[in-house]
Amino acid sequence: MPVEYYLNGVLSGDRVYLSKALSLAESTLEADLELKHAVLEGILPQTGKAIRLGITGAPGVGKSTFIEMLGLLLLEKGYKPAVLTVDPTSSRSQGSILGDKTRMEQLSKSNEAFIRPSAAGKSVGGVAHHTRESILLCEAAGFDVVIVETVGVGQSETEVRNMVDFFLLILIAGAGDELQGIKKGIIEMADSLVINKADGENRQKALQAQSIYQNALHYLNPVNSQWLPRVFTCSARNNQGIDLIWQNVESFVELMKSSGYLEQQRQQQRLMWLEDCIQRAINRYLKLEDNKARGIEDLQEQIKQGTLLPNKAAELIVQQLIKSSG
Ligand code: GDP
Repeated sequence: MPVEYYLNGVLSGDRVYLSKALSLAESTLEADLELKHAVLEGILPQTGKAIRLGITGAPGVGKSTFIEMLGLLLLEKGYKPAVLTVDPTSSRSQGSILGDKTRMEQLSKSNEAFIRPSAAGKSVGGVAHHTRESILLCEAAGFDVVIVETVGVGQSETEVRNMVDFFLLILIAGAGDELQGIKKGIIEMADSLVINKADGENRQKALQAQSIYQNALHYLNPVNSQWLPRVFTCSARNNQGIDLIWQNVESFVELMKSSGYLEQQRQQQRLMWLEDCIQRAINRYLKLEDNKARGIEDLQEQIKQGTLLPNKAAELIVQQLIKSSG
């Protein structure tokens, strides 16, 4: 399939072509690499215009219910939302936390919304890697709010934090010991917090949790010194409180655009992406080339035996790579 086929399709907002381009972005086949780069390069001028929103939370807190309600609200407001999922389990096992059930049924019926279920089992390592590319493809296809959903497992939260403008943490009220079991670092990464399921008998507990978290935020070091994260309560099931949360996202974007923070953050994120790509390129190269001939296997053996330090060996291997590619 020629590059133009993908470019014309994606840029005209055709979801079938967008899906094909996303599959291409997810592909780990050597043979797809060149085409993938050409497509991404081609769409690049049409990217960057969406609000990039990351949403995280433990399984069962109500992420998909919340995102569905938020998506429907965005449609009402005239936005075109796209939802991408980063499912950290899919790369390790065939099972997945996020991808198995039917999610966001109402939203998926809309012609103005796009939902990309996680690529369970397809991607080997760096699930988040192609998500950055997927964000760009959705933007090029005209989606103006790109929601990236992830579950709080492993590195995926940090990875998603590093590719979105606004990072929202969804929680539910616990049994009094609110801050236990939640990694402090995740709260520090969040631009705002949401206590979901604030309905029925749970409402009171949710309000308590709200004030506990709001208090706790005073003692933490938020990533962004220009922004005070807020704690919201909502009931995604009853569609209550979502509007205020979206207003919070919008005012963040407005403020951070005018202060220049948003662009700075995106610049930093592009540099982090570069680091990630360098890492991947080296790994790919190490796999492709004849390691025996270059003595890399010898180094690996010495590391296994504990007779060589990995940091020293890493330097030697990178030098080897430069030498053999020159
Ligand atoms: P996810 O795993 O984080 O995506 O969570 P889901 O959206 O699948 O929701 C998990 C369960 O919580 C489902 O049974 C939902 O119906 C329920 N749920 C989601 N939001 C709410 C809410 O606001 N209130 C109540 N009471 N239940 C909710």
